[in-house]
Amino acid sequence: MSTSYPNTNLYIDGRWQPAASGDTIDVINPANEEVIGTVARAGTSDLDEALNAADKAFKIWKNTSAFDRYKILRKAADLLRKRADIIAQIMTIEQGKPLAESKGETLVGADRIDWMAEEGRRTYGRVIPARADGIYQFTVKEPVGPVAAFTPWNFPLNQILQKVPAAIAAGCSIIVKGPEEAPACCAELAKVFEEAGLPAGVFNLVYGVPSEISDYLIPHPIIKKVTFTGSTAVGKLLAAKAGEHMKLVTMELGGHSPAIVFEDADLDVALNVLSSNKYRNAGQVCISPTRFLVHESVYDKFVDGFKEASDNLIVGDGLLPETKMGPLAHDRRLEAIDEFVKDAVKRGGKIETGGERKGNKGYFYEPTVLTNVPLDAKIMNEEPFGPVAPITRFKSFDDVVEEANRLPYGLAAYAYTNSNKTAEAIGSALSSGMVSINHHGLAMPETPFGGIGESGYGKEGGVEGIEAYLQTKFITQASL
Ligand code: NAD
Repeated sequence: MSTSYPNTNLYIDGRWQPAASGDTIDVINPANEEVIGTVARAGTSDLDEALNAADKAFKIWKNTSAFDRYKILRKAADLLRKRADIIAQIMTIEQGKPLAESKGETLVGADRIDWMAEEGRRTYGRVIPARADGIYQFTVKEPVGPVAAFTPWNFPLNQILQKVPAAIAAGCSIIVKGPEEAPACCAELAKVFEEAGLPAGVFNLVYGVPSEISDYLIPHPIIKKVTFTGSTAVGKLLAAKAGEHMKLVTMELGGHSPAIVFEDADLDVALNVLSSNKYRNAGQVCISPTRFLVHESVYDKFVDGFKEASDNLIVGDGLLPETKMGPLAHDRRLEAIDEFVKDAVKRGGKIETGGERKGNKGYFYEPTVLTNVPLDAKIMNEEPFGPVAPITRFKSFDDVVEEANRLPYGLAAYAYTNSNKTAEAIGSALSSGMVSINHHGLAMPETPFGGIGESGYGKEGGVEGIEAYLQTKFITQASL
Protein backbone atom coordinates (compact mmCIF):
# COMPACT_ATOMS: atom_id res chain seq x y z
CA MET A 1 0.00 0.00 0.00
CA SER A 2 1.31 3.47 -0.71
CA THR A 3 -0.15 6.73 0.53
CA SER A 4 0.77 10.03 -1.07
CA TYR A 5 1.56 12.63 1.53
CA PRO A 6 -1.17 15.30 1.84
CA ASN A 7 -0.64 19.00 2.58
CA THR A 8 -2.42 20.17 5.72
CA ASN A 9 -4.75 23.12 6.11
CA LEU A 10 -6.28 24.61 9.24
CA TYR A 11 -9.50 23.04 10.51
CA ILE A 12 -11.66 25.84 11.89
CA ASP A 13 -15.41 25.80 12.49
CA GLY A 14 -15.77 22.56 10.55
CA ARG A 15 -13.95 23.92 7.47
CA TRP A 16 -10.54 23.08 6.04
CA GLN A 17 -8.87 26.30 5.00
CA PRO A 18 -5.44 27.74 4.27
CA ALA A 19 -4.09 30.47 6.54
CA ALA A 20 -5.60 33.87 5.68
CA SER A 21 -2.05 35.03 4.83
CA GLY A 22 -1.46 31.99 2.62
CA ASP A 23 1.68 31.25 4.68
CA THR A 24 2.85 27.67 5.09
CA ILE A 25 5.61 25.75 6.87
CA ASP A 26 7.49 22.91 5.16
CA VAL A 27 7.09 19.35 6.44
CA ILE A 28 10.18 17.14 6.22
CA ASN A 29 10.46 13.35 6.09
CA PRO A 30 13.05 12.69 8.83
CA ALA A 31 14.18 9.47 7.12
CA ASN A 32 15.50 11.28 4.04
CA GLU A 33 15.31 15.02 4.89
CA GLU A 34 13.13 15.69 1.84
CA VAL A 35 10.40 18.30 1.95
CA ILE A 36 7.25 16.23 1.51
CA GLY A 37 4.56 18.86 1.88
CA THR A 38 3.39 21.88 3.78
CA VAL A 39 1.22 22.86 6.70
CA ALA A 40 -0.71 26.13 6.93
CA ARG A 41 0.73 28.70 9.33
CA ALA A 42 -2.05 30.39 11.28
CA GLY A 43 -2.00 34.12 12.00
CA THR A 44 -4.12 36.07 14.45
CA SER A 45 -7.12 36.41 12.11
CA ASP A 46 -7.22 32.60 11.75
CA LEU A 47 -6.95 32.25 15.53
CA ASP A 48 -9.78 34.74 16.00
CA GLU A 49 -11.93 32.57 13.75
CA ALA A 50 -11.01 29.49 15.76
CA LEU A 51 -11.76 31.28 19.04
CA ASN A 52 -15.16 32.46 17.85
CA ALA A 53 -15.96 28.98 16.53
CA ALA A 54 -14.97 27.35 19.83
CA ASP A 55 -17.00 29.90 21.78
CA LYS A 56 -20.11 29.41 19.65
CA ALA A 57 -19.76 25.61 19.60
CA PHE A 58 -19.27 25.42 23.38
CA LYS A 59 -22.69 26.96 23.96
CA ILE A 60 -24.29 24.20 21.89
CA TRP A 61 -22.06 21.30 22.89
CA LYS A 62 -22.27 21.81 26.67
CA ASN A 63 -26.06 21.43 26.34
CA THR A 64 -25.82 18.33 24.15
CA SER A 65 -26.65 15.28 26.24
CA ALA A 66 -23.82 13.12 27.51
CA PHE A 67 -25.41 10.20 25.66
CA ASP A 68 -25.34 12.02 22.32
CA ARG A 69 -21.71 13.02 22.88
CA TYR A 70 -20.95 9.39 23.69
CA LYS A 71 -22.47 8.17 20.42
CA ILE A 72 -20.36 10.56 18.33
CA LEU A 73 -17.18 9.64 20.20
CA ARG A 74 -17.81 5.91 19.80
CA LYS A 75 -18.36 6.38 16.09
CA ALA A 76 -15.11 8.35 15.83
CA ALA A 77 -13.24 5.53 17.59
CA ASP A 78 -14.59 2.97 15.12
CA LEU A 79 -13.71 5.15 12.12
CA LEU A 80 -10.19 5.67 13.47
CA ARG A 81 -9.69 1.90 13.77
CA LYS A 82 -10.86 1.42 10.18
CA ARG A 83 -8.36 4.01 8.91
CA ALA A 84 -5.44 2.87 11.08
CA ASP A 85 -3.34 1.57 8.17
CA ILE A 86 -3.56 4.78 6.14
CA ILE A 87 -3.02 7.03 9.15
CA ALA A 88 -0.04 4.93 10.29
CA GLN A 89 1.58 5.29 6.88
CA ILE A 90 1.21 9.08 6.98
CA MET A 91 2.52 9.23 10.55
CA THR A 92 5.62 7.22 9.72
CA ILE A 93 6.41 9.35 6.66
CA GLU A 94 6.25 12.61 8.64
CA GLN A 95 7.41 11.50 12.10
CA GLY A 96 9.77 8.60 11.39
CA LYS A 97 8.68 5.87 13.82
CA PRO A 98 8.32 2.31 12.48
CA LEU A 99 4.99 1.52 10.87
CA ALA A 100 4.01 -0.99 13.57
CA GLU A 101 4.47 1.71 16.24
CA SER A 102 2.40 4.19 14.21
CA LYS A 103 -0.40 1.67 13.83
CA GLY A 104 -0.25 0.75 17.52
CA GLU A 105 -0.48 4.44 18.44
CA THR A 106 -3.54 4.86 16.22
CA LEU A 107 -5.31 1.81 17.64
CA VAL A 108 -4.61 2.73 21.26
CA GLY A 109 -5.84 6.20 20.33
CA ALA A 110 -9.18 4.69 19.32
CA ASP A 111 -9.33 2.97 22.72
CA ARG A 112 -8.75 6.34 24.39
CA ILE A 113 -11.74 7.79 22.57
CA ASP A 114 -13.89 4.83 23.65
CA TRP A 115 -12.76 5.15 27.25
CA MET A 116 -13.56 8.88 27.49
CA ALA A 117 -16.86 8.38 25.63
CA GLU A 118 -17.86 6.13 28.52
CA GLU A 119 -16.44 8.41 31.20
CA GLY A 120 -18.49 11.30 29.80
CA ARG A 121 -21.62 9.41 30.86
CA ARG A 122 -20.40 9.19 34.45
CA THR A 123 -19.66 12.81 35.36
CA TYR A 124 -21.70 12.47 38.51
CA GLY A 125 -22.43 15.16 41.05
CA ARG A 126 -23.68 14.35 44.55
CA VAL A 127 -26.39 15.20 47.02
CA ILE A 128 -25.12 16.55 50.34
CA PRO A 129 -27.34 16.10 53.40
CA ALA A 130 -28.37 19.54 54.69
CA ARG A 131 -28.42 20.78 58.29
CA ALA A 132 -32.03 21.94 58.06
CA ASP A 133 -35.29 20.54 56.73
CA GLY A 134 -36.42 21.80 53.35
CA ILE A 135 -32.91 22.48 52.09
CA TYR A 136 -31.72 20.54 49.11
CA GLN A 137 -28.01 20.86 48.36
CA PHE A 138 -26.09 19.21 45.62
CA THR A 139 -23.11 19.46 43.27
CA VAL A 140 -23.01 19.18 39.50
CA LYS A 141 -19.99 18.79 37.22
CA GLU A 142 -19.92 21.33 34.41
CA PRO A 143 -17.53 21.61 31.45
CA VAL A 144 -14.88 24.27 32.06
CA GLY A 145 -15.34 25.97 28.67
CA PRO A 146 -13.27 26.37 25.50
CA VAL A 147 -9.81 24.81 25.87
CA ALA A 148 -6.48 25.67 24.24
CA ALA A 149 -4.29 22.58 23.79
CA PHE A 150 -0.65 22.42 22.70
CA THR A 151 0.58 18.99 21.63
CA PRO A 152 4.01 17.76 20.48
CA TRP A 153 5.40 15.72 17.61
CA ASN A 154 6.63 12.57 19.38
CA PHE A 155 3.20 10.87 19.50
CA PRO A 156 1.32 13.20 17.17
CA LEU A 157 -1.97 11.36 17.43
CA ASN A 158 -1.72 10.05 20.97
CA GLN A 159 -0.91 13.42 22.51
CA ILE A 160 -4.02 14.92 20.93
CA LEU A 161 -6.05 11.91 22.01
CA GLN A 162 -4.92 12.32 25.61
CA LYS A 163 -6.76 15.65 25.53
CA VAL A 164 -9.50 15.92 22.91
CA PRO A 165 -11.73 12.94 23.86
CA ALA A 166 -11.74 13.95 27.53
CA ALA A 167 -12.47 17.59 26.69
CA ILE A 168 -15.31 16.88 24.31
CA ALA A 169 -16.76 14.04 26.40
CA ALA A 170 -16.96 16.59 29.24
CA GLY A 171 -18.79 19.07 26.98
CA CYS A 172 -15.92 21.46 26.21
CA SER A 173 -14.88 22.80 22.84
CA ILE A 174 -11.16 22.80 22.05
CA ILE A 175 -8.57 24.46 19.85
CA VAL A 176 -5.54 22.23 19.37
CA LYS A 177 -2.24 23.57 18.17
CA GLY A 178 -0.89 20.38 16.68
CA PRO A 179 2.71 19.49 15.83
CA GLU A 180 4.03 21.29 12.74
CA GLU A 181 6.50 18.42 12.27
CA ALA A 182 3.74 15.82 11.89
CA PRO A 183 0.53 17.61 10.96
CA ALA A 184 -1.13 15.34 8.41
CA CYS A 185 -1.94 12.34 10.63
CA CYS A 186 -3.57 14.79 13.07
CA ALA A 187 -5.64 16.19 10.20
CA GLU A 188 -6.85 12.64 9.47
CA LEU A 189 -7.98 12.46 13.08
CA ALA A 190 -9.97 15.68 12.74
CA LYS A 191 -11.63 14.20 9.64
CA VAL A 192 -12.62 11.16 11.66
CA PHE A 193 -14.39 13.35 14.25
CA GLU A 194 -15.98 15.39 11.48
CA GLU A 195 -17.37 12.26 9.81
CA ALA A 196 -18.56 10.89 13.13
CA GLY A 197 -20.84 13.93 13.34
CA LEU A 198 -19.01 16.21 15.78
CA PRO A 199 -20.60 19.67 15.34
CA ALA A 200 -18.50 22.37 13.68
CA GLY A 201 -16.27 24.32 16.06
CA VAL A 202 -16.12 21.74 18.86
CA PHE A 203 -12.69 20.57 17.71
CA ASN A 204 -10.48 23.04 15.84
CA LEU A 205 -6.96 22.20 14.69
CA VAL A 206 -4.38 24.87 13.94
CA TYR A 207 -0.65 25.05 13.26
CA GLY A 208 1.88 27.84 13.12
CA VAL A 209 4.67 29.34 15.20
CA PRO A 210 4.09 27.77 18.65
CA SER A 211 4.99 30.87 20.69
CA GLU A 212 2.81 33.14 18.53
CA ILE A 213 -0.18 30.85 19.00
CA SER A 214 0.26 30.33 22.74
CA ASP A 215 0.86 34.07 23.29
CA TYR A 216 -2.43 34.79 21.56
CA LEU A 217 -4.65 31.98 22.81
CA ILE A 218 -3.70 31.66 26.47
CA PRO A 219 -4.59 35.22 27.56
CA HIS A 220 -7.69 35.34 25.37
CA PRO A 221 -10.88 35.67 27.45
CA ILE A 222 -12.68 32.95 25.46
CA ILE A 223 -10.13 30.34 26.57
CA LYS A 224 -10.86 28.92 30.02
CA LYS A 225 -8.33 26.09 30.22
CA VAL A 226 -4.81 25.46 28.94
CA THR A 227 -3.32 22.02 28.47
CA PHE A 228 0.23 21.41 27.25
CA THR A 229 2.43 18.40 26.59
CA GLY A 230 6.11 19.08 25.96
CA SER A 231 9.30 20.14 27.66
CA THR A 232 9.52 21.41 31.23
CA ALA A 233 11.17 24.63 29.99
CA VAL A 234 8.25 25.51 27.70
CA GLY A 235 5.72 24.22 30.26
CA LYS A 236 7.00 26.72 32.84
CA LEU A 237 6.55 29.59 30.37
CA LEU A 238 3.02 28.55 29.45
CA ALA A 239 1.99 27.84 33.06
CA ALA A 240 3.25 31.30 34.07
CA LYS A 241 1.28 32.92 31.26
CA ALA A 242 -1.82 30.94 32.18
CA GLY A 243 -1.32 31.98 35.82
CA GLU A 244 -1.26 35.66 34.88
CA HIS A 245 -4.73 35.21 33.45
CA MET A 246 -5.98 32.76 36.10
CA LYS A 247 -6.58 29.98 33.57
CA LEU A 248 -6.94 26.36 34.61
CA VAL A 249 -3.88 24.36 33.59
CA THR A 250 -2.75 20.79 32.92
CA MET A 251 0.97 20.30 32.28
CA GLU A 252 2.38 17.01 30.97
CA LEU A 253 6.10 17.73 30.92
CA GLY A 254 9.39 15.95 30.62
CA GLY A 255 10.87 13.36 32.92
CA HIS A 256 14.13 11.50 33.47
CA SER A 257 12.91 8.06 34.41
CA PRO A 258 15.05 5.84 36.61
CA ALA A 259 15.01 2.14 35.68
CA ILE A 260 16.28 0.15 38.65
CA VAL A 261 17.49 -3.42 38.31
CA PHE A 262 17.95 -5.17 41.67
CA GLU A 263 20.29 -8.11 42.24
CA ASP A 264 17.40 -10.60 42.31
CA ALA A 265 15.72 -9.34 39.10
CA ASP A 266 14.88 -11.63 36.22
CA LEU A 267 17.63 -10.22 34.02
CA ASP A 268 16.22 -11.53 30.74
CA VAL A 269 12.87 -9.85 31.38
CA ALA A 270 14.53 -6.63 32.54
CA LEU A 271 16.84 -6.50 29.51
CA ASN A 272 14.13 -7.33 27.04
CA VAL A 273 11.51 -4.90 28.35
CA LEU A 274 13.89 -2.05 29.16
CA SER A 275 15.85 -2.18 25.91
CA SER A 276 12.74 -2.30 23.74
CA ASN A 277 11.21 0.60 25.65
CA LYS A 278 14.46 2.57 25.58
CA TYR A 279 14.53 2.51 21.77
CA ARG A 280 10.79 2.76 21.15
CA ASN A 281 10.14 5.86 19.03
CA ALA A 282 13.94 6.34 19.00
CA GLY A 283 13.82 7.23 22.69
CA GLN A 284 11.59 10.26 22.09
CA VAL A 285 9.14 9.28 24.77
CA CYS A 286 8.55 11.26 27.95
CA ILE A 287 8.28 8.04 30.00
CA SER A 288 11.25 6.38 28.30
CA PRO A 289 13.63 4.72 30.80
CA THR A 290 16.57 7.13 30.80
CA ARG A 291 18.73 6.48 33.86
CA PHE A 292 19.59 2.80 34.20
CA LEU A 293 20.58 2.00 37.78
CA VAL A 294 21.83 -1.56 38.10
CA HIS A 295 22.97 -3.46 41.19
CA GLU A 296 26.73 -4.02 41.12
CA SER A 297 26.34 -7.82 41.27
CA VAL A 298 24.50 -7.98 37.93
CA TYR A 299 25.93 -4.81 36.37
CA ASP A 300 28.43 -6.38 33.92
CA LYS A 301 25.89 -8.90 32.67
CA PHE A 302 23.28 -6.17 32.23
CA VAL A 303 25.67 -3.90 30.31
CA ASP A 304 26.67 -6.78 28.00
CA GLY A 305 23.03 -7.71 27.40
CA PHE A 306 21.98 -4.12 26.75
CA LYS A 307 24.86 -3.61 24.37
CA GLU A 308 23.89 -6.75 22.47
CA ALA A 309 20.24 -5.67 22.24
CA SER A 310 21.39 -2.25 21.00
CA ASP A 311 23.71 -3.72 18.38
CA ASN A 312 20.98 -6.04 17.12
CA LEU A 313 18.44 -3.29 16.63
CA ILE A 314 17.62 -2.68 12.97
CA VAL A 315 17.67 1.08 12.39
CA GLY A 316 16.19 2.45 9.19
CA ASP A 317 13.29 4.03 7.37
CA GLY A 318 10.16 3.32 9.40
CA LEU A 319 8.31 2.26 6.27
CA LEU A 320 10.55 -0.81 5.84
CA PRO A 321 9.07 -3.87 7.52
CA GLU A 322 12.33 -4.94 9.17
CA THR A 323 12.92 -1.55 10.86
CA LYS A 324 12.78 -1.55 14.65
CA MET A 325 13.96 2.03 15.19
CA GLY A 326 13.45 4.96 12.84
CA PRO A 327 15.19 8.33 12.66
CA LEU A 328 14.87 11.10 15.21
CA ALA A 329 11.91 13.29 14.36
CA HIS A 330 13.80 16.44 13.43
CA ASP A 331 17.29 17.90 13.13
CA ARG A 332 17.13 19.66 16.53
CA ARG A 333 17.08 16.24 18.25
CA LEU A 334 20.11 15.04 16.29
CA GLU A 335 22.15 18.00 17.50
CA ALA A 336 20.84 17.64 21.05
CA ILE A 337 21.72 13.93 21.28
CA ASP A 338 25.16 14.50 19.88
CA GLU A 339 25.74 17.15 22.54
CA PHE A 340 24.59 14.81 25.36
CA VAL A 341 27.01 12.10 24.22
CA LYS A 342 29.98 14.44 23.68
CA ASP A 343 29.45 16.02 27.09
CA ALA A 344 29.30 12.60 28.79
CA VAL A 345 32.52 11.47 27.10
CA LYS A 346 34.30 14.74 27.93
CA ARG A 347 33.50 14.10 31.60
CA GLY A 348 34.88 10.55 31.57
CA GLY A 349 31.94 8.50 30.27
CA LYS A 350 32.63 5.48 28.10
CA ILE A 351 30.77 4.66 24.91
CA GLU A 352 30.03 0.91 25.01
CA THR A 353 28.33 1.04 21.64
CA GLY A 354 26.96 3.66 19.23
CA GLY A 355 27.69 7.30 19.94
CA GLU A 356 27.44 8.63 16.38
CA ARG A 357 24.94 9.83 13.85
CA LYS A 358 24.12 6.95 11.51
CA GLY A 359 24.78 7.78 7.87
CA ASN A 360 24.56 11.31 6.54
CA LYS A 361 21.04 11.38 5.15
CA GLY A 362 18.08 11.32 7.49
CA TYR A 363 18.16 12.06 11.22
CA PHE A 364 19.35 8.59 12.29
CA TYR A 365 21.36 8.12 15.47
CA GLU A 366 22.97 4.88 16.58
CA PRO A 367 21.49 3.07 19.59
CA THR A 368 23.97 4.13 22.22
CA VAL A 369 25.06 2.70 25.57
CA LEU A 370 27.16 4.77 27.96
CA THR A 371 28.87 3.68 31.18
CA ASN A 372 30.96 5.47 33.83
CA VAL A 373 29.00 8.66 33.28
CA PRO A 374 29.49 10.99 36.25
CA LEU A 375 26.44 12.54 37.92
CA ASP A 376 27.38 16.03 36.82
CA ALA A 377 27.12 15.09 33.13
CA LYS A 378 24.28 16.78 31.28
CA ILE A 379 22.68 13.43 30.41
CA MET A 380 22.35 12.52 34.10
CA ASN A 381 20.43 15.75 34.75
CA GLU A 382 18.44 16.66 31.64
CA GLU A 383 15.97 14.51 29.76
CA PRO A 384 17.90 13.01 26.83
CA PHE A 385 14.85 12.30 24.60
CA GLY A 386 16.78 10.05 22.26
CA PRO A 387 18.30 6.56 21.84
CA VAL A 388 20.95 6.83 24.56
CA ALA A 389 21.14 4.63 27.66
CA PRO A 390 23.49 5.67 30.48
CA ILE A 391 23.99 2.70 32.83
CA THR A 392 25.21 3.27 36.39
CA ARG A 393 25.90 0.77 39.18
CA PHE A 394 24.57 0.94 42.74
CA LYS A 395 25.33 -0.90 45.99
CA SER A 396 22.35 -0.54 48.31
CA PHE A 397 18.60 0.11 48.33
CA ASP A 398 19.05 3.45 50.07
CA ASP A 399 21.70 4.60 47.57
CA VAL A 400 19.56 3.77 44.58
CA VAL A 401 16.50 5.50 46.04
CA GLU A 402 18.59 8.61 46.65
CA GLU A 403 19.86 8.64 43.07
CA ALA A 404 16.43 7.84 41.58
CA ASN A 405 14.85 10.73 43.51
CA ARG A 406 17.74 13.17 43.00
CA LEU A 407 16.22 15.16 40.14
CA PRO A 408 13.31 17.61 40.31
CA TYR A 409 11.36 15.53 37.78
CA GLY A 410 8.93 12.78 38.71
CA LEU A 411 7.11 11.33 35.74
CA ALA A 412 7.78 7.59 35.45
CA ALA A 413 10.01 5.10 37.26
CA TYR A 414 10.72 1.41 36.68
CA ALA A 415 12.03 -1.36 38.89
CA TYR A 416 12.86 -5.04 38.42
CA THR A 417 13.06 -7.46 41.35
CA ASN A 418 11.84 -10.94 42.20
CA SER A 419 11.09 -9.98 45.77
CA ASN A 420 7.62 -8.73 46.67
CA LYS A 421 9.10 -7.03 49.69
CA THR A 422 11.55 -5.04 47.56
CA ALA A 423 8.81 -4.30 45.02
CA GLU A 424 6.56 -2.85 47.72
CA ALA A 425 9.41 -0.87 49.27
CA ILE A 426 10.58 0.65 45.98
CA GLY A 427 7.01 1.39 44.84
CA SER A 428 6.50 3.58 47.86
CA ALA A 429 10.03 5.08 48.01
CA LEU A 430 10.11 6.50 44.47
CA SER A 431 9.07 10.14 43.97
CA SER A 432 7.22 9.69 40.73
CA GLY A 433 3.76 10.13 39.31
CA MET A 434 3.87 6.59 37.88
CA VAL A 435 5.79 3.46 38.86
CA SER A 436 5.92 0.26 36.82
CA ILE A 437 7.43 -2.83 38.44
CA ASN A 438 8.61 -5.93 36.53
CA HIS A 439 6.86 -4.86 33.33
CA HIS A 440 6.12 -1.77 31.25
CA GLY A 441 2.53 -0.97 32.08
CA LEU A 442 2.02 2.78 31.72
CA ALA A 443 -0.14 5.03 29.54
CA MET A 444 -3.15 2.79 29.01
CA PRO A 445 -6.45 4.61 28.40
CA GLU A 446 -7.93 3.36 31.68
CA THR A 447 -4.95 4.35 33.86
CA PRO A 448 -3.98 7.84 35.04
CA PHE A 449 -0.97 9.42 33.36
CA GLY A 450 0.98 12.37 34.71
CA GLY A 451 3.91 13.58 36.75
CA ILE A 452 4.86 15.43 39.89
CA GLY A 453 7.42 18.18 40.52
CA GLU A 454 8.95 19.57 37.33
CA SER A 455 7.18 16.87 35.31
CA GLY A 456 4.01 18.90 35.66
CA TYR A 457 0.58 18.60 37.21
CA GLY A 458 -2.81 17.18 36.36
CA LYS A 459 -3.63 13.75 34.98
CA GLU A 460 -4.68 12.44 31.62
CA GLY A 461 -6.40 9.09 31.12
CA GLY A 462 -8.16 6.98 33.71
CA VAL A 463 -11.15 8.29 35.62
CA GLU A 464 -8.97 11.29 36.51
CA GLY A 465 -8.56 12.41 32.89
CA ILE A 466 -12.02 13.84 32.42
CA GLU A 467 -11.84 15.78 35.69
CA ALA A 468 -9.33 18.10 34.02
CA TYR A 469 -12.17 19.47 31.89
CA LEU A 470 -14.85 19.69 34.58
CA GLN A 471 -15.56 22.07 37.43
CA THR A 472 -17.78 21.44 40.39
CA LYS A 473 -20.72 23.73 40.99
CA PHE A 474 -22.47 23.65 44.37
CA ILE A 475 -26.18 24.50 44.43
CA THR A 476 -28.27 24.85 47.56
CA GLN A 477 -31.99 25.31 47.29
CA ALA A 478 -34.69 25.91 49.88
CA SER A 479 -38.10 24.45 49.08
CA LEU A 480 -40.87 27.06 48.86
P1 NAD B 1 10.82 22.54 22.50
O1 NAD B 1 11.06 22.58 23.97
O2 NAD B 1 11.07 23.76 21.70
O3 NAD B 1 9.32 22.12 22.20
C1 NAD B 1 8.64 21.11 22.87
C2 NAD B 1 7.18 21.20 22.41
O4 NAD B 1 6.63 22.44 22.84
C3 NAD B 1 7.00 21.21 20.90
O5 NAD B 1 5.83 20.49 20.59
C4 NAD B 1 6.82 22.68 20.54
O6 NAD B 1 6.00 22.86 19.41
C5 NAD B 1 6.14 23.21 21.76
N1 NAD B 1 6.44 24.60 22.04
C6 NAD B 1 7.67 25.18 22.08
N2 NAD B 1 7.56 26.48 22.43
C7 NAD B 1 6.25 26.73 22.60
C8 NAD B 1 5.49 27.88 22.96
N3 NAD B 1 6.08 29.05 23.25
N4 NAD B 1 4.14 27.77 23.03
C9 NAD B 1 3.52 26.60 22.78
N5 NAD B 1 4.17 25.47 22.44
C10 NAD B 1 5.52 25.53 22.36
O7 NAD B 1 11.72 21.41 21.93
P2 NAD B 1 11.62 20.32 20.81
O8 NAD B 1 12.95 20.32 20.13
O9 NAD B 1 10.40 20.39 19.97
O10 NAD B 1 11.52 19.07 21.74
C11 NAD B 1 12.58 18.77 22.61
C12 NAD B 1 12.21 18.62 24.03
O11 NAD B 1 10.82 18.69 24.25
C13 NAD B 1 12.62 17.25 24.49
O12 NAD B 1 13.88 17.31 25.05
C14 NAD B 1 11.58 16.86 25.48
O13 NAD B 1 12.03 17.19 26.77
C15 NAD B 1 10.41 17.72 25.19
N6 NAD B 1 9.26 17.00 24.65
C16 NAD B 1 8.49 16.35 25.53
C17 NAD B 1 7.38 15.66 25.09
C18 NAD B 1 6.51 14.91 26.05
O14 NAD B 1 5.83 13.99 25.65
N7 NAD B 1 6.47 15.31 27.32
C19 NAD B 1 7.09 15.63 23.74
C20 NAD B 1 7.90 16.32 22.84
C21 NAD B 1 9.00 17.03 23.32
